[in-house]
Amino acid sequence: MAFDVNKIREDFPILKRKVNGYPLVYFDNAATSQKPSKVIDSIVDYYSNYNSNIHRGVHSISQEATDAYEDARKKIQEHFNVKDSNEIILTSGTTHSINLVANGFTNLLSKDDEILISELEHHSNIVPWQMMCEKNGAKIKVIPLTSKGELNYDSFLNLLSKKTKLVFVNHVSNALGTINPIKSIISKAHEFGAAVLIDGAQASSHIKADLQELNVDFYTTSAHKLCGPTGIGMLFGKKEWLNKMPPYQGGGEMISEVTFEKTTYAGLPHKFEAGTPNIVGAIGFGMALDYLNNLGFDSIEFYETELLNYATNKLKEIPGFKMYGEAKHKTSVISFNIGELHSYDIGTILDKFGIAVRTGQHCAQPVMDYFGISGTVRASFSFYNTKEEIDYFCKSLERAVAMLS
Ligand SMILES: *Cc1c(COP(=O)(O)O)cnc(C)c1O
Repeated sequence: MAFDVNKIREDFPILKRKVNGYPLVYFDNAATSQKPSKVIDSIVDYYSNYNSNIHRGVHSISQEATDAYEDARKKIQEHFNVKDSNEIILTSGTTHSINLVANGFTNLLSKDDEILISELEHHSNIVPWQMMCEKNGAKIKVIPLTSKGELNYDSFLNLLSKKTKLVFVNHVSNALGTINPIKSIISKAHEFGAAVLIDGAQASSHIKADLQELNVDFYTTSAHKLCGPTGIGMLFGKKEWLNKMPPYQGGGEMISEVTFEKTTYAGLPHKFEAGTPNIVGAIGFGMALDYLNNLGFDSIEFYETELLNYATNKLKEIPGFKMYGEAKHKTSVISFNIGELHSYDIGTILDKFGIAVRTGQHCAQPVMDYFGISGTVRASFSFYNTKEEIDYFCKSLERAVAMLS
């Protein structure tokens, strides 16, 4: 294995810092990832050397900025194997992407239509649909979970009908790490004529999705989860759908002609990119994809699975340890509690030892409700984490338990 984690760690300046006197152990990767120098440098380079507004300047640096922005779109297109770069809309992230689609479907659905949402979803894939249903009267049906934290596939099949117009499932659950069988979900939904939106926010740092092979209708991600900057992400949509949907926001860049009598809209993708976009964000997003592809997704997956198995086995030895989410296919996320201890208290003490974990509901309250708990401690690993960090984490966790018991 040519995976040299110590060398990789050199790429991430933040990993050298201390927190509360201890070296930072960053196990909150499911919330956001750290950024390699290559990405940070691309941001500094943009602002230092060619900061300019895009698409409208005749001058040189505006052209350079436009080229860099459109080049980023091409990198995203290639990475996700999308046929046409016009099917890639640059958004501020997954939340924005989902709201854009929900807005687009408001007038396409009516009260006899149904949409299926999985119980595993992040709030950002629940609330926009509830808001849409308030307007058009469409009904939400929920695909339930199993005790292992997987989707109940038989229930999904039973819920599908001719009334089903849309299906929403995340590719990977941020709360439990479950990898959903999206390929079969997509093809089953298509048999009933339903469109499918896959929330790829949690998947994209672990799995390289081939969107043509998946034949998915919509796919979203956020760059900050995959070593890119915050405030930038993408929506992939099949052209047939994007053309049917009205623009989400009005403004500059998204028009073809404006008079006070009537405005006509620009074509794809600009129809959905009103105003000055996050130019530097897009550039950083493209750089992050370059970085990950250079490491190789197979190597990343192999190494992260090793970390997951190592940590799971060690944590299981701690008395009172209970893990939520034991899907056969999962990413390097461990959601757990210890005895009756409150996740927040454990997280607070771990922070005193320099360890960053997430505690609480992880923006997925229905998942917590399913298990009848108020929250969990979530440790999520990335390819720049090490087994030594996991050893230190387990030791610190035992100290925290002793202090709280
Ligand atoms: C992080 C995440 C989101 C939300 O992404 P934002 O970047 O906050 O818009 C949605 N779904 C899943 C599965 C996530 O992990």
